[in-house]
Parts: sequence; C-alpha cells; structure tokens
Amino acid sequence: MSSDSADSRRRSGRWLLLVGAGCLLSLVIGLHLGLLPRLPTPRLLTFGGIAEWLIALLLASILVALQSRDLPARIHALLSVGLILWLVSCVSDVLDELVRQPLWVSAFAEDVPRVLGMLLAALGLLGLVRHSGQMMQELERLSLREPLTGLGNRRRFNQVVNQRQDRGFGLLLMDLDHFKRVNDRFGHAVGDEVLSQVADVLRGLAPEPDDLFRLGGEEFAMIVAPDDDEGLETLSRRIVRAVAALRPRDDLGVTLSIGVGRSRPAEPPLELMQRVDRALYQAKADGRNQVAVARD
Ligand code: GH3
Ligand code: MG
Ligand code: MG
Repeated sequence: MSSDSADSRRRSGRWLLLVGAGCLLSLVIGLHLGLLPRLPTPRLLTFGGIAEWLIALLLASILVALQSRDLPARIHALLSVGLILWLVSCVSDVLDELVRQPLWVSAFAEDVPRVLGMLLAALGLLGLVRHSGQMMQELERLSLREPLTGLGNRRRFNQVVNQRQDRGFGLLLMDLDHFKRVNDRFGHAVGDEVLSQVADVLRGLAPEPDDLFRLGGEEFAMIVAPDDDEGLETLSRRIVRAVAALRPRDDLGVTLSIGVGRSRPAEPPLELMQRVDRALYQAKADGRNQVAVARD
C-alpha cells in the first residue's frame, strides 16, 4: 500500500472518529433533554456551570487538535477514546445544570465515562512521554552518525575527543588516495560504494568500532587506547594492507594513507590533531598507500 493511500485512509478514519464522537454527544444531549425533567431554575450560567462548559470545550479542542498529529496508532487511539469518554462525562455534567438527573444516570453517563476516560487518556499520555523520549534518543543518534557509512560524524568525533582528553588517546587520520580519480572514472555512485566498503574494512579492524568516524569526504578517523607507537603503527599498517586488498570492482582498487600518533601528557586535542594531520600529509608526500607516525 502506498504511503499516500495510507495517509488518506488515516485522515478519513480520523474524520469518522470525530463524526462518531459528535453523534455520541448529540445522543447524550438528546436523551437528557428529551427524557429527563427540566430543573425549575437552570444553573448553566452559575460559576460551576460555566466552569463545566469550559472544561468540555477544552477537552473538545484537544480532541480536534489531536487528529492532525502524527502519532503512533496505539497512542492516538488511547488519547482519542479517553478524551471522548471524558467529554461525554463533562457534557452530562453540564446537562445536570439543566435537567434533573437520576442517580443511576449520573453514575453511567458521568462517573463511569470520566474514570474510564481519564484512565485511557493517562495511559495515552504515558505512551506519548515514552514515545517522545525514544524520538529524542533516535534524533540524537542520527545527529551523530553520517548516513552513507553509518559511522560517527565529525560532531561525534569532537564529543569523543573531549571525553578522552584527560586519559589521552591514540589517533589515526586516514584519507583515501586519489579518490577524485575514482569518481571521475567510475562515477559518484561507485565512489560511494567504495566509501562504504572501506568503512566496513575499518569496522572489522577497529579495536572499538564505536570510535570510528567519517570526518567528511574520503577522510576517516579512529580513536584508540594510548598504546605505544609501535602498536598504533602495526594497526595502521594492517588497515593500509586491508584497504589495498579491496577490489570494489575487477578493474578498481583503492589505497589509503594514514597519519598516526598518540597524545602527550596534557596535550590539547587540537595540537595532537595537527601533529597527526602533518604526518598524514607526509604519508601522502612520500608516495601514499602508507603510514607516517607523528613523532613527539
Ligand atoms: P589525495 O590522495 O591527495 O587525497 O587525493 P584525492 O583525490 O583523494 O583528494 P581530493 O581532496 O582532491 O578529492 C577528494 C574527492 O572525494 C573529491 C570528491 O569528489 C570526493 N568525495 C568527497 N565526498 C564524497 C562522497 O560522499 N561520495 C563520493 N563518491 N565522493 C566524495
Ligand atoms: Mg584523498
Ligand atoms: Mg581528502
């Protein structure tokens, strides 16, 4: 089913719900006015009567406004049915300022729908709070990922760098070699596929796949424990070899250059990044497809 037809079905379902609520309320009003004796002096315009009208109007406005909201079906149903029952009870409450309501009528038309309505609306509200929390988490997650490779983006990278600042960390900055040529020769779509495959290789080799980032374009970063330089270098060389072994297509190979280094005690992250970036340039200048270590 297309999303357009699902949308129009949902819209008509909501209109039907409002029409149904209107019919139910008309029935309640009609039965009260048609079957029950009038009070000698109506109290509709007393303070209590006006307050009851206002509550009914407020609930009706929320019910109508709710119909244009894009909510999960279960939450929408709980809130709508809850509000309709609550509204029935409020309308009966208003009507007992006009007619003499026997006790059993006030129990069935006012008390029972009010308790049930409030209960369903409260369940709907709880669902809404939980749903909003999940949406916030999902938004937060999406704002820290980049969509092509699913890796953390530069924003996430900055967050992690700040978190690790005190403990110190090792950093790998990686850049695909002559990637522009891949796009020029095979097209952007193949370029994108290469980026995804490289990201998969990096995921497979990263000690902590969550600490892997695509900083933009064809540039990746990995944060690792502040190992000795040799450990970082070994990992970097393994990555260079694994990327060079990739064959995204029979006639296409890619290589990658890496600058690697670890933070000195109390070194600001920006300084480490500049040192490692210089090492990456060195790796490029020395012929690419290799690792250069940022010395202290
Ligand atoms: P170098 O070895 O010096 O790094 O050369 P390079 O060609 O890799 O570097 P350059 O910075 O000249 O070009 C980077 C290219 O990366 C240019 C751009 O078309 C490509 N690129 C950046 N982002 C994306 C992307 O999301 N998808 C694709 N397919 N290409 C991208
Ligand atoms: Mg490049
Ligand atoms: Mg680049």
